[in-house]
Order: sequence, then structure tokens, then C-alpha cells
Amino acid sequence: MLICHLGMSGSFRIEADPGDQAPGAFHHPRSKDAAHDHIVFHLVSPTLGKTRVVFNDPRRFGFMLFADDSGGHPMLDGLGVEPTGNRLDGALLAELFKGKKTPLKAALLDQTLIAGLGNIYVSEALWRAGLSPRRAAHTIASASGKPGSRAERLASAVRSVIADAIAAGGSTLRDYAQADGSLGYFQHQFSAYGREGEACRKAGCGGTIQRIVQSGRSTFYCPVCQH
Ligand SMILES: [Zn+2]
Repeated sequence: MLICHLGMSGSFRIEADPGDQAPGAFHHPRSKDAAHDHIVFHLVSPTLGKTRVVFNDPRRFGFMLFADDSGGHPMLDGLGVEPTGNRLDGALLAELFKGKKTPLKAALLDQTLIAGLGNIYVSEALWRAGLSPRRAAHTIASASGKPGSRAERLASAVRSVIADAIAAGGSTLRDYAQADGSLGYFQHQFSAYGREGEACRKAGCGGTIQRIVQSGRSTFYCPVCQH
């Protein structure tokens, strides 16, 4: 098993293999410079011919390591459920957030509960679900821990946001790009994130998107239709 982390500035490129290039030295300041191509996989594909997959990371917060296939790895221990996996439903969210008095926003960002949801997609999912980021996390379920409509709405919103973002090629903020160098387009579909002061896009709402700061991170939401 190969564990790869992009860190702050890492990226993979897939491109035709020019033949004889090796990873460069690590001391150049610029991104997309072959000098920051730290690891190069040379592949031969029946359809694409000689191809290489290049890991580039100017700031070097990323990493790549081999791990035993059978036993997992300490880097993966304690990670929560996959937001795209079939396990994520209202019942699981209700169970995960049981007794949690932290705001919904913070609970959704907690990687030990759900792994891989970041600041943007949490704002978008809460907007889609019509739930306030300030609401105490445990209130998506009944006192006995039964998932109500809030938990079901939130689970389906999380899954749909991730699915839509993947379909759009991800969100290009700063310099994120896909493996072939093209940009993602999901940022053009944001309904809450980055839209402070703009009209809420929910039909008939009439509210205005606000920005608040929770745990040092920006949260965007509509106080009219998100409760
Ligand atoms: Zn609204």
C-alpha cells in the first residue's frame, strides 16, 4: 500500500514519458518547476504508451510512504468514515454526533468522525441541508439518538456535495488542478462558500449569505433558511 498526502502544495501530474528524466534537487523556490518533481513513476500503458505520474511538491508538507497492506498504518489510525462511502447515512451521523455540544460546523470538520470533509464542503453541505453551522451537533438526532429528518438531510447533502464536486473536477482555489493540468469548476457552483453579502440561492428564501468565524475558520451560511 502506498500512502500519499499532498500536504499544502503537492500535486500529481500524468503525462507522456519523455524518457530519461529523474527527480530534481529540492532547493528551488518555484512550483511546477521540474526541480520539485520529487517522485516519478514510469508506467507503460497498452493504450497510452510510455506515461509517467509525477509527484510535485514545492513546500514539501506532502509525503509518500509504503505501508503494510494487512495492518494499516498509524497515519490512518483514528480517521473517521469516508464521506463518499455507503456507510454515511442519517443513522451514522446521529450516532457520531450523539452527545456532542460542539457546533455542527466543527463536528463535520472533525477528521476523527468524518475523514476528508474540508471547510468549503462543510459550508456547502450545511447550506444544502438547511442547517445552521452554529447548531449543536447532537441536535440533528432525537434525545435517544434516533436520526430525524435533520440527520437524513445532512447525510444526503454531504454525499451530494462531494459527488457534485468530483463531477465538476474539484474546486480550483489558488492553483489546484487536475492530474492533466486542467482546472476544476465546482467553485462556480458554490451556494454559500465565499458569497458573503450575496443573495441566498435557495428559491423563495430572500436571505443574504453571511460570514462568521468558527474555530478560526470562515463559515458562510444563510441565517434565513439555515436553522
Ligand atoms: Zn437562504
